[in-house]
Parts: sequence; C-alpha cells; structure tokens
Amino acid sequence: MKTFEVTILGSLAALPHKGKITSSQILLYNRQSIMIDCGEGVQMMMSKYHINPSRIKLICISHLHGDHLFGLPGLLSSFQHHQRTEPLTIIGPVGTAEFIDVVHKLTQQYIVYPIYIKEIDIVEKTEVFHFDDLVVSAFPLNHRIVTYGYYFEEKARVKKMNKDAVKQFQLTVEEIRQILKGEDIKRNEGLLLKNEIFTLPDPPFRSYAYCSDTMYDEKILDWIKGVSTLYHEATYLHLLVEKAKERKHTTAQQAGRLAKKAKVKKLIIGHFSSRYNDVKELVDEARNEFEEVYAALEGSVFSI
Ligand SMILES: [Zn+2]
Repeated sequence: MKTFEVTILGSLAALPHKGKITSSQILLYNRQSIMIDCGEGVQMMMSKYHINPSRIKLICISHLHGDHLFGLPGLLSSFQHHQRTEPLTIIGPVGTAEFIDVVHKLTQQYIVYPIYIKEIDIVEKTEVFHFDDLVVSAFPLNHRIVTYGYYFEEKARVKKMNKDAVKQFQLTVEEIRQILKGEDIKRNEGLLLKNEIFTLPDPPFRSYAYCSDTMYDEKILDWIKGVSTLYHEATYLHLLVEKAKERKHTTAQQAGRLAKKAKVKKLIIGHFSSRYNDVKELVDEARNEFEEVYAALEGSVFSI
C-alpha cells in the first residue's frame, strides 16, 4: 500500500508561541508531498521534522489570513537558494498570485524554477489537481474572508489484473486492452467473460479532509461525509462559543459533533488559541462528542 500520511508542522491560531507555530501540514503520498497552509516559521519545523523540501510539488493555501500564509515568501525564496528546478504549483483563493507577485517585486526576488499559481473561485467541491493516484479537490468553508477546505482522495485509475485468470482463459493482447478499459469480453462461441473475473478488487480508498478556518457549518458535511481522516479547526473551548461565532471559528465540542455527523474514522483538531497551555482539555471536550480525536501538535504524524 502506498504511503499516505500527514505531518503536523504548525498547530496554533493567530501567532507563534512557545516553540509552536501557526497552521501548516505536510501530506505525503507515495514519496511526493503537498504542503497545506504555510504559517510563519514553517522552514524551522521542516528541518526539525526532516521534511524534504524537494518533494513538495503542491502548496494548498486555505485563505489569505497571515497565520496561514506568512511562511510562503521565505519558503519560495529558499527553494531558489537550493537551486530547485522542479515546477511548483500553488493553489489558493483569488489574491494568492498578487500576494506572491508583490513580495517578489518589492524584494527583487528572482525565481527561476517554474511556479504555477492556480487561483480558485468556487461554490462547491471541485477537483483542482491530481497526481499519481491522488485527486485533490477544494470546497468552500465559512470564515471571515474567502476560505477553502481541501479534500485529498486516493483513486485507482487502472484496475490491477488477476494474472491467474488471464492465464487460465489465455487472453489475447486485444482482450487484455478491453479488460483494462473496463469492458467485458465476448468470444465467438457466445461466451461472455465478465470484466471482474480478470481484475482484482480495489483496495480500500483512503481520504483526508482539511477544514481550517471555519465556523461550525453543517453545509460542510456535503463535502466531507465519510472521509477517512478529518482535520478540523477547534480554536476554542465551548465556553467561548460566542467568541467563536463572532470570529467565525469552531469550538472543540462543535468539531467533535461535526466529525460524528460526517461519520469519519478519525478526527484531528488544531488551530488552537494560544490561551490554552494544554490542549488536552480541547481534545477531551471533542471526545465527549466523538471518540477518535487527536491533537494536531507539531511533529505528530498520522497515517491516513
Ligand atoms: Zn483565518
């Protein structure tokens, strides 16, 4: 089975504090990486947790608030210092390209490796990228500025052949082509050989959804229902639910409730307010709603 795991680089909301930084994660799929959000200080965390920068082929930005973005100019500049040649794709809301252009213009940063910036403006879940067997989609969240969640879903594009059956029925090259296209085989004698005889069942598909920042909104269920692992922000304890509403954030209790309604397998909560010295109380609060809850702390690795 291909590696599919997420490493947390930053867990905090708003500002870095006591060795922790703001939102950033690395999703590793089969030796290639996607960075999700890029808070200030991300490069220190990458070196601390042995993240290979040259494997990053895609950066997904959820929204343009600084605690999700201020690490980006430094990272792009370091890629240049490391003589990166591989192309990099950056996906984010409208304004992402302008932010990068203005920084590069004012700082006279000259980038040689190709950067493709894809700005999205969507109202429902939309495929935005794919590589290998991984499909990346974005969907709208409910925050103070335009914000997108991301959904990473494994999909086998080509079925695996059952070699024993191919041998047994002595399939011709043309018949194998038909099978790979998903067709059945009709032979002269009126014999119908069903496609599923020659293909192996798909392995269970894994998926990861990233929801930060957003207020509690059940509309999001449409996009994330049944996801294997859900990351959802939980900025505050429920005691501060009014503040959460006003700032368009979620409480730990609400994140747990959403995970339960979405029937996910595992919930990771993060984007913690720095007022909480120990995030155990946030995890415990979410666990009252949904059992499988983990804290997105710097350096934690979760397999999907
Ligand atoms: Zn925000």
